[in-house]
Amino acid sequence: MKAANAESRVWREIYRRVAAEMGRKECETWLKPAACKGIRGNVLRLEVPNNLYREFIKEKYLELLETKALEVLGPGAQVDIAAAVGQEGLFLSDGSPAESAPKYPPPKASKLNPLYTFDTFVVGRSNSFCHAACRAVVQSPGARYNPLFVYGGVGLGKTHLLHAIGHATLQKGNGPTVSYLSCDHFMNEMIAAVKNNRTDAFRRKYRNVDFLLVDDIQFLAGMEGTQVEFFHTFNALYEAGSQIVLSSDRAPKDIPKVEDRLRTRFEWGLIADIQPPDYETRRAIIARKAELKRIRIADDVADLIATRLTTNIRAIEGVLNRLFATAHHTKTAVSMSLAQDILAEIAPEDRRVSLSIDQLQEAAAKYFNLSRRDLLSKSRRANVARARQIAMYLCREKTSTSLADIGLAFGNRDHTTVLYSITKVEGELTSGEEGLTKTIRDIEKNLERIPV
Ligand code: ADP
Ligand code: MG
Repeated sequence: MKAANAESRVWREIYRRVAAEMGRKECETWLKPAACKGIRGNVLRLEVPNNLYREFIKEKYLELLETKALEVLGPGAQVDIAAAVGQEGLFLSDGSPAESAPKYPPPKASKLNPLYTFDTFVVGRSNSFCHAACRAVVQSPGARYNPLFVYGGVGLGKTHLLHAIGHATLQKGNGPTVSYLSCDHFMNEMIAAVKNNRTDAFRRKYRNVDFLLVDDIQFLAGMEGTQVEFFHTFNALYEAGSQIVLSSDRAPKDIPKVEDRLRTRFEWGLIADIQPPDYETRRAIIARKAELKRIRIADDVADLIATRLTTNIRAIEGVLNRLFATAHHTKTAVSMSLAQDILAEIAPEDRRVSLSIDQLQEAAAKYFNLSRRDLLSKSRRANVARARQIAMYLCREKTSTSLADIGLAFGNRDHTTVLYSITKVEGELTSGEEGLTKTIRDIEKNLERIPV
């Protein structure tokens, strides 16, 4: 009895500290339903109403919870979150909606961006296959290419194509229902539905559409509960002959932490990738954007932009918008010198954003006279391990990649290994290790020579 009291006091203290940081209201929504089931060793065991709570809390608050548990319980403290027994399956059943379920507004396609149509999409070598596949599912939905899985790097037109499918389908008539949403949206809505006891309505909403277009499906990685729900949504739609289109920044086989049964389903239909545009396509895109804005752009200006910005169409668009806005504002023509100024201002910024882990690994390996493969290998040779630590540090500094993803990119290492490496390098830098500062500067110089 006494022990139980002490345990609940500890939990109350941790709760208080967490609430001080994340806000009382949020804490009441998400953490209040958690019950302390005891402390074994240094592990605080919490029980939450169901799997979704568990997933959401793990995703958003586990780190904070563990930090506070460390403060209260001391070194080695951990937090273990379980769903209440009998509730694990709350979201896992495949039951069909009850007749009395509240009515959701009918699925709308209002979230489609009017500018993202097939008409405004420029087709080139790098995207023609994917474009053709998207056209084909509009022609014969639910047939051969189901699901259609579109993948490619950032800013290469995946979202544009998904919207274009939506528009073209709606235009074809026969009143099809089209749902476009991001993977994040799916998850958030699902969580809200669970909270408000509206899971039946949620299911009905997404399991009764003719077209389901889900953007950025790679965000399912590690989200167990959402994956289960999505799995059932997928099956219901597939069996009903509805068309499913998914986009991702990588191929199904490269998405980490996805259940196999879901991954195989992603691969059932057609997988179509989009590559970065070649020079001709970049020129064509620039010409088309200028035409849509009714602005003339000289050949040498178009050439400059197409040469300087090669990997991301969104970046090209950004420069064009700046260029058009400035020209309009100052009532001057789009001149070469204006373009140069804007590029000089934007391109360094853009470099930073578009630096990839690959480029950083390449630059670090080169500096240490190693290959990228060495860097990713299991080798513990001192020089390899050192190069690896520094490369991990650079990835953290220069990209917005999470520790877990950096670990994955470095031969599937654990995020604690990554954290250890980064902390070590940071420690040495703050203690003013001169050789190291120079090393990092030299690697950065190497980077400048790697084309954007
Ligand atoms: P992703 O979803 O792949 O990150 P987006 O679809 O958001 O990329 O595209 C980024 C921007 O580039 C959008 O404004 C889009 O209209 C434009 N874009 C991409 N590809 C093309 C293309 N082939 N033709 C015209 N515009 C394009
Ligand atoms: Mg997108």
